[in-house]
Amino acid sequence: MSVTHNECVHGCNYSEDEIHVFFLCEVARQIWLASPWGLRWEALRLNDLMSFLHCLFNPTDLIPIHEDDKETFLFFGATMLEYLWKIRNTSYHAIESPYVQLTPDLIRKKVNEMIDATKRDASASHSPEVSDRHIRLSWRKPTAGFIKVNSYATMRSNGCFLAIIARNEEGKVLSIHSFKSKVSIPEVAELEAIAKAMHRAQVHGWTKMIFETDAQTVIKALHMKDRSLIQWASESLFSNIMLNISSFQIVKFSWAPRIANNLAHNVSKWSATYYVVGPIDLIWLPSVCTETVIQKSAPEEAPWIQL
Ligand SMILES: [Zn+2]
Repeated sequence: MSVTHNECVHGCNYSEDEIHVFFLCEVARQIWLASPWGLRWEALRLNDLMSFLHCLFNPTDLIPIHEDDKETFLFFGATMLEYLWKIRNTSYHAIESPYVQLTPDLIRKKVNEMIDATKRDASASHSPEVSDRHIRLSWRKPTAGFIKVNSYATMRSNGCFLAIIARNEEGKVLSIHSFKSKVSIPEVAELEAIAKAMHRAQVHGWTKMIFETDAQTVIKALHMKDRSLIQWASESLFSNIMLNISSFQIVKFSWAPRIANNLAHNVSKWSATYYVVGPIDLIWLPSVCTETVIQKSAPEEAPWIQL
Protein backbone atom coordinates (compact mmCIF):
# COMPACT_ATOMS: atom_id res chain seq x y z
CA MET A 1 0.00 0.00 0.00
CA SER A 2 1.24 3.45 -0.70
CA VAL A 3 -0.52 6.74 -0.41
CA THR A 4 0.21 9.24 -3.14
CA HIS A 5 -2.92 11.39 -3.19
CA ASN A 6 -2.28 14.92 -1.98
CA GLU A 7 -5.22 15.77 0.21
CA CYS A 8 -7.16 13.45 2.50
CA VAL A 9 -10.05 11.93 0.53
CA HIS A 10 -12.33 12.32 3.55
CA GLY A 11 -12.21 16.09 3.18
CA CYS A 12 -10.54 16.90 6.48
CA ASN A 13 -8.04 19.35 4.90
CA TYR A 14 -4.98 17.35 5.88
CA SER A 15 -2.40 16.15 3.46
CA GLU A 16 -2.70 12.45 2.99
CA ASP A 17 0.10 10.20 4.20
CA GLU A 18 0.13 6.74 5.81
CA ILE A 19 0.00 8.09 9.35
CA HIS A 20 -2.99 10.24 8.52
CA VAL A 21 -4.96 7.59 6.61
CA PHE A 22 -4.37 4.74 9.04
CA PHE A 23 -4.21 6.45 12.42
CA LEU A 24 -4.97 10.13 12.70
CA CYS A 25 -7.71 10.93 10.15
CA GLU A 26 -11.09 11.57 11.81
CA VAL A 27 -12.42 8.46 10.03
CA ALA A 28 -9.56 6.31 11.36
CA ARG A 29 -9.91 7.76 14.84
CA GLN A 30 -13.61 6.87 15.03
CA ILE A 31 -12.89 3.27 14.14
CA TRP A 32 -9.89 2.84 16.45
CA LEU A 33 -11.91 4.38 19.27
CA ALA A 34 -14.70 1.86 18.67
CA SER A 35 -12.23 -1.03 19.08
CA PRO A 36 -12.35 -2.98 22.37
CA TRP A 37 -9.36 -0.96 23.56
CA GLY A 38 -10.90 2.43 22.75
CA LEU A 39 -7.62 3.55 21.21
CA ARG A 40 -6.70 7.20 20.76
CA TRP A 41 -3.52 7.26 18.71
CA GLU A 42 -3.40 11.05 18.79
CA ALA A 43 -2.87 10.85 22.57
CA LEU A 44 0.32 8.79 22.10
CA ARG A 45 1.97 11.63 20.16
CA LEU A 46 3.89 9.32 17.87
CA ASN A 47 5.38 11.08 14.88
CA ASP A 48 6.78 8.57 12.46
CA LEU A 49 5.24 5.57 10.76
CA MET A 50 7.73 3.13 12.29
CA SER A 51 6.65 4.14 15.81
CA PHE A 52 3.02 3.44 14.92
CA LEU A 53 3.90 0.04 13.45
CA HIS A 54 6.17 -0.77 16.39
CA CYS A 55 3.22 -0.06 18.67
CA LEU A 56 0.96 -2.46 16.71
CA PHE A 57 3.50 -5.25 17.25
CA ASN A 58 4.55 -4.26 20.78
CA PRO A 59 1.45 -2.54 22.17
CA THR A 60 2.27 -3.22 25.82
CA ASP A 61 5.05 -0.62 25.65
CA LEU A 62 2.54 2.16 25.14
CA ILE A 63 -1.04 0.94 25.38
CA PRO A 64 -2.68 -0.73 28.38
CA ILE A 65 -2.99 -4.18 26.84
CA HIS A 66 -2.49 -7.35 28.76
CA GLU A 67 0.41 -9.49 27.60
CA ASP A 68 -2.06 -12.31 26.80
CA ASP A 69 -4.06 -10.08 24.45
CA LYS A 70 -1.15 -9.04 22.25
CA GLU A 71 -1.97 -11.50 19.51
CA THR A 72 -5.66 -10.56 19.41
CA PHE A 73 -4.56 -6.94 19.26
CA LEU A 74 -2.36 -7.69 16.30
CA PHE A 75 -5.30 -9.39 14.52
CA PHE A 76 -7.33 -6.28 15.25
CA GLY A 77 -4.59 -3.96 14.07
CA ALA A 78 -4.07 -5.78 10.78
CA THR A 79 -7.81 -5.95 10.07
CA MET A 80 -8.21 -2.32 11.03
CA LEU A 81 -5.55 -1.20 8.53
CA GLU A 82 -7.11 -3.34 5.81
CA TYR A 83 -10.55 -1.76 6.34
CA LEU A 84 -9.20 1.77 6.60
CA TRP A 85 -7.48 1.23 3.26
CA LYS A 86 -10.74 -0.06 1.74
CA ILE A 87 -12.64 2.93 3.08
CA ARG A 88 -10.00 5.28 1.73
CA ASN A 89 -10.23 3.67 -1.70
CA THR A 90 -14.01 3.63 -1.91
CA SER A 91 -13.97 7.33 -1.04
CA TYR A 92 -11.16 8.10 -3.46
CA HIS A 93 -12.83 6.34 -6.36
CA ALA A 94 -16.24 7.56 -5.19
CA ILE A 95 -17.62 4.05 -5.72
CA GLU A 96 -19.97 4.27 -2.78
CA SER A 97 -20.17 6.22 0.44
CA PRO A 98 -17.79 4.78 3.01
CA TYR A 99 -19.31 2.34 5.47
CA VAL A 100 -17.63 3.86 8.50
CA GLN A 101 -20.52 3.16 10.89
CA LEU A 102 -20.54 -0.53 10.02
CA THR A 103 -16.80 -0.97 10.08
CA PRO A 104 -16.25 -1.65 13.81
CA ASP A 105 -18.76 -4.54 13.59
CA LEU A 106 -17.23 -5.88 10.39
CA ILE A 107 -13.79 -5.79 11.95
CA ARG A 108 -14.97 -7.52 15.11
CA LYS A 109 -16.61 -10.23 13.00
CA LYS A 110 -13.48 -10.76 10.96
CA VAL A 111 -11.24 -10.87 14.07
CA ASN A 112 -13.57 -13.39 15.71
CA GLU A 113 -13.31 -15.53 12.60
CA MET A 114 -9.52 -15.30 12.77
CA ILE A 115 -9.55 -16.22 16.46
CA ASP A 116 -11.92 -19.14 15.79
CA ALA A 117 -9.63 -20.34 13.03
CA THR A 118 -6.65 -20.17 15.42
CA LYS A 119 -8.77 -22.03 17.96
CA ARG A 120 -9.56 -24.77 15.45
CA ASP A 121 -5.87 -25.08 14.57
CA ALA A 122 -5.03 -25.18 18.25
CA SER A 123 -7.55 -27.89 19.12
CA ALA A 124 -6.36 -29.86 16.11
CA SER A 125 -2.87 -29.75 17.58
CA HIS A 126 -4.25 -30.47 21.11
CA SER A 127 -2.93 -27.35 22.67
CA PRO A 128 -5.61 -26.22 25.12
CA GLU A 129 -3.79 -23.11 26.32
CA VAL A 130 -4.33 -21.50 22.94
CA SER A 131 -7.90 -22.68 22.42
CA ASP A 132 -9.44 -20.37 25.01
CA ARG A 133 -7.86 -17.27 23.59
CA HIS A 134 -11.25 -15.92 22.50
CA ILE A 135 -12.49 -15.67 26.09
CA ARG A 136 -9.56 -13.47 27.01
CA LEU A 137 -11.55 -10.55 25.67
CA SER A 138 -14.36 -11.23 28.10
CA TRP A 139 -15.03 -10.12 31.68
CA ARG A 140 -12.58 -11.46 34.25
CA LYS A 141 -13.47 -12.86 37.65
CA PRO A 142 -12.06 -11.09 40.70
CA THR A 143 -9.35 -12.69 42.83
CA ALA A 144 -10.67 -14.94 45.62
CA GLY A 145 -12.30 -12.98 48.44
CA PHE A 146 -12.94 -9.88 46.34
CA ILE A 147 -16.20 -8.53 44.94
CA LYS A 148 -15.90 -6.80 41.57
CA VAL A 149 -18.35 -4.07 40.63
CA ASN A 150 -18.48 -3.04 36.97
CA SER A 151 -20.09 0.26 36.09
CA TYR A 152 -21.12 2.16 32.99
CA ALA A 153 -22.81 5.49 32.22
CA THR A 154 -25.09 5.94 29.20
CA MET A 155 -25.41 9.59 28.28
CA ARG A 156 -28.76 11.08 27.26
CA SER A 157 -29.68 14.65 26.31
CA ASN A 158 -31.03 15.42 29.78
CA GLY A 159 -28.56 13.49 31.93
CA CYS A 160 -27.48 9.88 32.08
CA PHE A 161 -28.27 6.36 33.23
CA LEU A 162 -25.75 4.59 35.43
CA ALA A 163 -25.57 0.84 35.84
CA ILE A 164 -23.57 -1.15 38.37
CA ILE A 165 -23.15 -4.93 38.51
CA ALA A 166 -21.50 -6.73 41.43
CA ARG A 167 -20.05 -10.22 40.95
CA ASN A 168 -18.06 -12.50 43.21
CA GLU A 169 -15.01 -14.68 42.60
CA GLU A 170 -17.17 -17.35 40.96
CA GLY A 171 -18.62 -14.81 38.56
CA LYS A 172 -22.02 -15.03 40.27
CA VAL A 173 -24.09 -11.84 39.97
CA LEU A 174 -24.76 -10.48 43.48
CA SER A 175 -26.52 -7.26 42.62
CA ILE A 176 -27.56 -5.11 39.65
CA HIS A 177 -28.63 -1.53 40.14
CA SER A 178 -29.36 1.34 37.80
CA PHE A 179 -29.70 5.04 38.55
CA LYS A 180 -30.89 8.12 36.67
CA SER A 181 -28.63 11.12 37.08
CA LYS A 182 -28.73 14.75 35.93
CA VAL A 183 -25.01 14.70 35.15
CA SER A 184 -24.33 15.54 31.51
CA ILE A 185 -20.51 15.22 31.36
CA PRO A 186 -19.32 11.66 30.59
CA GLU A 187 -16.29 11.78 32.91
CA VAL A 188 -18.38 13.05 35.82
CA ALA A 189 -21.01 10.40 35.07
CA GLU A 190 -18.38 7.61 35.16
CA LEU A 191 -17.15 8.88 38.55
CA GLU A 192 -20.71 9.12 39.83
CA ALA A 193 -21.28 5.48 38.81
CA ILE A 194 -18.19 4.45 40.82
CA ALA A 195 -19.35 6.53 43.81
CA LYS A 196 -22.75 4.78 43.62
CA ALA A 197 -21.01 1.41 43.35
CA MET A 198 -19.00 2.23 46.49
CA HIS A 199 -22.13 3.21 48.34
CA ARG A 200 -23.90 -0.04 47.39
CA ALA A 201 -20.82 -2.00 48.51
CA GLN A 202 -20.94 -0.25 51.90
CA VAL A 203 -24.66 -1.07 52.22
CA HIS A 204 -23.88 -4.74 51.55
CA GLY A 205 -20.98 -4.69 54.01
CA TRP A 206 -18.46 -5.87 51.39
CA THR A 207 -14.87 -5.16 52.39
CA LYS A 208 -12.51 -6.22 49.57
CA MET A 209 -13.50 -4.44 46.40
CA ILE A 210 -12.52 -3.99 42.79
CA PHE A 211 -14.28 -1.18 40.96
CA GLU A 212 -13.97 -1.69 37.23
CA THR A 213 -15.00 0.41 34.26
CA ASP A 214 -13.85 1.11 30.71
CA ALA A 215 -13.21 4.83 31.33
CA GLN A 216 -9.42 4.94 31.21
CA THR A 217 -8.74 8.46 32.47
CA VAL A 218 -11.09 8.08 35.40
CA ILE A 219 -9.49 4.79 36.48
CA LYS A 220 -5.99 6.16 36.04
CA ALA A 221 -6.82 9.23 38.17
CA LEU A 222 -8.36 7.09 40.93
CA HIS A 223 -5.58 4.52 40.86
CA MET A 224 -2.84 7.17 40.99
CA LYS A 225 -4.91 9.35 43.36
CA ASP A 226 -4.08 12.14 40.93
CA ARG A 227 -6.82 14.73 40.60
CA SER A 228 -4.88 16.70 38.00
CA LEU A 229 -5.93 14.05 35.45
CA ILE A 230 -9.62 14.89 35.77
CA GLN A 231 -11.60 18.02 35.01
CA TRP A 232 -12.76 20.45 37.69
CA ALA A 233 -16.39 19.32 37.42
CA SER A 234 -15.30 15.87 38.67
CA GLU A 235 -13.49 17.21 41.76
CA SER A 236 -16.16 16.73 44.44
CA LEU A 237 -17.02 13.18 43.33
CA PHE A 238 -13.32 12.36 43.15
CA SER A 239 -12.78 13.62 46.73
CA ASN A 240 -15.84 11.70 47.87
CA ILE A 241 -14.49 8.45 46.42
CA MET A 242 -11.04 9.05 47.92
CA LEU A 243 -12.60 9.61 51.36
CA ASN A 244 -14.68 6.45 51.09
CA ILE A 245 -11.72 4.19 50.34
CA SER A 246 -10.89 4.04 54.06
CA SER A 247 -14.25 2.41 54.83
CA PHE A 248 -13.08 -0.74 53.01
CA GLN A 249 -10.33 -3.19 53.82
CA ILE A 250 -8.94 -3.11 50.26
CA VAL A 251 -10.06 -1.10 47.22
CA LYS A 252 -8.69 -1.51 43.71
CA PHE A 253 -9.66 0.50 40.65
CA SER A 254 -9.38 -1.47 37.46
CA TRP A 255 -9.75 -0.64 33.80
CA ALA A 256 -11.22 -3.10 31.27
CA PRO A 257 -11.90 -2.69 27.57
CA ARG A 258 -15.51 -1.95 26.68
CA ILE A 259 -16.02 -5.50 25.43
CA ALA A 260 -15.18 -6.84 28.91
CA ASN A 261 -17.48 -4.30 30.55
CA ASN A 262 -20.35 -5.47 28.40
CA LEU A 263 -22.90 -6.40 31.04
CA ALA A 264 -22.74 -2.98 32.75
CA HIS A 265 -22.83 -1.36 29.31
CA ASN A 266 -25.88 -3.38 28.21
CA VAL A 267 -27.80 -2.90 31.45
CA SER A 268 -27.16 0.83 31.36
CA LYS A 269 -28.42 1.10 27.74
CA TRP A 270 -31.42 -1.06 28.60
CA SER A 271 -32.33 1.04 31.62
CA ALA A 272 -31.98 4.22 29.52
CA THR A 273 -34.24 2.76 26.81
CA TYR A 274 -36.98 1.52 29.15
CA TYR A 275 -36.42 4.08 31.89
CA VAL A 276 -35.98 1.39 34.54
CA VAL A 277 -34.13 2.51 37.66
CA GLY A 278 -33.46 0.83 41.00
CA PRO A 279 -32.50 -2.74 41.82
CA ILE A 280 -32.77 -5.02 38.79
CA ASP A 281 -33.27 -8.75 38.74
CA LEU A 282 -31.24 -10.69 36.22
CA ILE A 283 -34.38 -12.41 34.91
CA TRP A 284 -35.92 -9.07 33.81
CA LEU A 285 -33.13 -8.49 31.36
CA PRO A 286 -33.35 -9.54 27.73
CA SER A 287 -31.02 -12.34 26.70
CA VAL A 288 -28.87 -9.92 24.71
CA CYS A 289 -27.95 -8.28 28.02
CA THR A 290 -27.33 -11.45 29.95
CA GLU A 291 -25.44 -13.63 27.52
CA THR A 292 -22.27 -12.02 28.84
CA VAL A 293 -23.12 -13.42 32.30
CA ILE A 294 -23.57 -16.93 31.06
CA GLN A 295 -20.60 -16.68 28.74
CA LYS A 296 -17.53 -18.30 30.22
CA SER A 297 -15.32 -15.72 31.81
CA ALA A 298 -11.55 -15.84 31.82
CA PRO A 299 -10.25 -18.28 34.43
CA GLU A 300 -8.48 -15.95 36.79
CA GLU A 301 -8.24 -12.31 37.62
CA ALA A 302 -5.78 -11.05 35.08
CA PRO A 303 -5.63 -7.27 35.17
CA TRP A 304 -6.15 -5.53 31.87
CA ILE A 305 -3.92 -2.69 32.80
CA GLN A 306 -0.68 -2.27 34.64
CA LEU A 307 -0.82 1.33 35.82
ZN1 LIG B 1 -8.50 12.70 6.82
